[in-house]
Amino acid sequence: MDACLSYYVVSKELRGESVVHDHFMSLALEQAEQAAIADEVPVGAIIVRNEEVIAAAYNQREQLRDPTAHAEMIAITQAATALGAWRLEGCTLYVTLEPCPMCAGAILQARVGQLVYGADDPKAGAIRSLFRLMDDPRLNHQVEVVSGIMSERCGLLLSNFFQAKRRLGKK
Ligand SMILES: [Zn+2]
Repeated sequence: MDACLSYYVVSKELRGESVVHDHFMSLALEQAEQAAIADEVPVGAIIVRNEEVIAAAYNQREQLRDPTAHAEMIAITQAATALGAWRLEGCTLYVTLEPCPMCAGAILQARVGQLVYGADDPKAGAIRSLFRLMDDPRLNHQVEVVSGIMSERCGLLLSNFFQAKRRLGKK
């Protein structure tokens, strides 16, 4: 995790929003792969401000024995520490899986400007799938949402992980 925290600036050759989103999502995917190596459900998150990575984290629920240790929660805390402020306005959070209600709540609390996620989560997603927390006009903070970035790779990492788990479980 620490190695990935080194600040990274997008090369000037990168042009166009989708190229930028793909670039940062691939960094979030690298985090998710770290989670899989650590036998954690592979979800990774990156927080970017002014094209610099200020946080990089993966799900550590098992290692930390903490139900709140989702990738987004850890990344939000890291970013707030890096900025010395709890408001993450002007930041974009990239995460490989659609955030759950807890993480969506934290994204709203942190005033994250933009959320970019990969695969939908039909079982727990709180952005489009189960709930639409970011679309509620009663909340005073609005988050711009981009979904489906590299969704196939993000989803495949998860399904491969659970498939391997099931296979091991049967032995
Ligand atoms: Zn979550």
